[in-house]
Amino acid sequence: MRDISGTTRICGLLGNPVEHTKSPLIHNTLAEKLGVDLCYGAFRVDEDRVEEAVKGAYALNFLGMNVTVPYKSRVIASLKEIDPLAAKIGAVNTLVRTSGGFKGYNTDMPGLYRAMCSDGVDIKGERIVVLGAGGVARAVVMMLLENGAKEIIICNRTQKKAMDIIEEAEKIFPDGSKALMAMPMDEFLMQESADKYIAIQATSVGMYPKVDEAVCDNDAFYEKVKVGYDLIFNPEETLFMKLVKKNGGKAYNGLKMLLYQGIIAFELMTGEKINDETADEILAKLKK
Ligand code: NAP
Repeated sequence: MRDISGTTRICGLLGNPVEHTKSPLIHNTLAEKLGVDLCYGAFRVDEDRVEEAVKGAYALNFLGMNVTVPYKSRVIASLKEIDPLAAKIGAVNTLVRTSGGFKGYNTDMPGLYRAMCSDGVDIKGERIVVLGAGGVARAVVMMLLENGAKEIIICNRTQKKAMDIIEEAEKIFPDGSKALMAMPMDEFLMQESADKYIAIQATSVGMYPKVDEAVCDNDAFYEKVKVGYDLIFNPEETLFMKLVKKNGGKAYNGLKMLLYQGIIAFELMTGEKINDETADEILAKLKK
């Protein structure tokens, strides 16, 4: 147990609910390992008190905060400054103390990117199919465009939401718009392509306790997939991942994305650099 003293800097997660979070484990372990005098807690905040909570945390000299659902967009109004990537994505999950207020960043998407790099998955020049068109899928599409994907197809139950993401992405990345399409799963299955796809599963289907569900259970889809990334991390192996593997592809869950969003947030808040060995240690702890 580390000593908490008058010099200990406070950080924490703001969201609702927060009881399930792994962020304290990531940040407190990093602080202990690196000898940073920091303590990280979780703060459940009511919907109508988000602004008050951010101001209060700043007034109480918090070093930084993370923000989780449902406040990643709402918190933007309370910031002094926003990083350009977070502004593009329209969601902030990390607040870093600066003179006069917090600066907001999004580390979810760099976190996913760093997880993919660490798994040897390169996005540049690839054809990618994104399942889902919620808040995370939207950010994933922006990240894929930022990192040079050749083609992005969004398949979502509600087609309108996929179209909305495309419309928004076309404004932000006018040059990448040609590679962006929204289509129902049936249409995707009829697409002719010599190359296989990287599939990013960004729906909530298959999450614990409904572990025997997948947003698509048709082998014809998985035959077109060489790498499958499920952003869900509980269960460790989702049905989506099982189906990718059954059809000869490689499959990964969202645990590394969670880890790296935390690591990047810690780096931004403290100025420390986390090496691969430490990242692996925290990953092993998260898996337990
Ligand atoms: P969200 O905004 O609520 O979006 C949910 C998406 O799932 C929508 O596209 C929705 O389709 C689809 N969906 C839900 N139930 C469905 C069903 N029965 N059939 C077909 N589609 C269905 O959620 P989000 O914030 O984007 O988060 C999505 C997932 O990402 C979460 O469940 C979480 O596991 C994961 N995540 C992981 C990390 C990480 O660090 N690894 C971080 C954040 C989130 P409609 O548009 O048709 O409703």
